[in-house]
Amino acid sequence: MIFFRMCKFSCNAVEWLKNNSLVLSKILKTSKMKVFKFGGASVKSAEAVRNVLQILKGYNENIVVVISAMGKTTNLLETLAKAYFEKSDNKWSVFQKFRNYHTDISDLLFDKNTPESISILLTELENKLRIPPSFDFNFEYDQIVSYGELVSTRLVSEYLNFAGFTNSWIDIRTCLRTNNKFRDATVDWDLTEKLVQQVLNFEEEKLYVTQGFIGATKPNLTTTLGREGSDFTAAILGNVLNAEDVSIWKDVPGVLNADPKKMEGAVKIDELSYREAIEMSYSGAQVIHPKTMKPLHNKGIPLLVKSFVSPLEKGTVIHEVDHKLQLQPVFIVKENQVLITISPIDFSFISIEDINKVAYLLQENRIKVNLIQQSAIDFNLVVDFPEVDLNPILKKLSENYIARYNTDLKLITIRHFNKEALHKMKKDKKIYLEQNSRLTARLVVK
Ligand code: ASP
Ligand code: MG
Repeated sequence: MIFFRMCKFSCNAVEWLKNNSLVLSKILKTSKMKVFKFGGASVKSAEAVRNVLQILKGYNENIVVVISAMGKTTNLLETLAKAYFEKSDNKWSVFQKFRNYHTDISDLLFDKNTPESISILLTELENKLRIPPSFDFNFEYDQIVSYGELVSTRLVSEYLNFAGFTNSWIDIRTCLRTNNKFRDATVDWDLTEKLVQQVLNFEEEKLYVTQGFIGATKPNLTTTLGREGSDFTAAILGNVLNAEDVSIWKDVPGVLNADPKKMEGAVKIDELSYREAIEMSYSGAQVIHPKTMKPLHNKGIPLLVKSFVSPLEKGTVIHEVDHKLQLQPVFIVKENQVLITISPIDFSFISIEDINKVAYLLQENRIKVNLIQQSAIDFNLVVDFPEVDLNPILKKLSENYIARYNTDLKLITIRHFNKEALHKMKKDKKIYLEQNSRLTARLVVK
């Protein structure tokens, strides 16, 4: 009887193992890996790329390296996309700049022997510029701007291999799949998870180098995830690969309580909760993209913000915090803001329908709303100064509303504010709008 039971148990166990061995081996294999994200500043020159190699040498784990476009390349490519779409001949001089910037770096890294993979990408983009654009700007934007990440990752990957640090270059568009909302694509999580686990399996590789910010639709059209989206890519990969942690390498020592370029005496914060980090980045703290936290929070994966200048320093850890954090006031300044104030022409109250209408119009034009305040007949919106022309939007609004706006404003957010902090930020400034909650003070100022 006992023997029979044991046999049955072990038969079941064998059966179970057989059925789940793939799952098990996947869990075991993917349980120990890290995701590193290097932003534009960390790869902006040959010297910077060499520094990436030095950082990677300090680790022996399985790593996926996610890289942005070099330096300010995405801004340059935005100009290129515009010139191309407007059929302006200026596109060639912008393209030259793009090409020269990368070939100069390549010359320094490879002793003037530009790797073929780089030349292929540059020719591909050049050929694209020769054919007339379609009628969809957002689509064309993604097809062009994505070359920033394609070229930067090729350069870094080739350089690491050249320096004896073997790695595989992965075209993330083969596995990071999105819908077709160009310039602001939404991730298809199920498909992405499946494909990423197949492609980045660490079976014969310890190191992968891939692009941030870009993806592709099911029919293989290139998309982007929104400006500064590479952090988000790192978080997506961290999530689907169950990374032990995700590190973002920056030119600052970690998350600071203010932008050191704008305020004296900024200090590093050692530890933050996901929630605090979301609030800070959403308010405009540029250190991390606001979308980064959710995929990591959902799986309890820590996010480390570290300095590529002093890689041995601890940086900031963002994770689940079960104790109360004693945080000093955190100052976040978002520049180039526009305050739009609308009121119904017929003097009626602002209703939910009004709010819906306005929100839809802004969303359609990819304009991000940073703050909303409503009174009986005024509806105030603070938005990023849009790349699109604001006038047609205001014209549309003025069919039903009186619409006014002010440009060149700053949105100041103070998390964990106190009297002194608020006073300091208000001093000598013209205040357009103020909104305070228990933890957060927000000011729109000139
Ligand atoms: N290169 C893209 C940008 O500058 C994505 C990123 O850097 O995160 O927006
Ligand atoms: Mg960038």
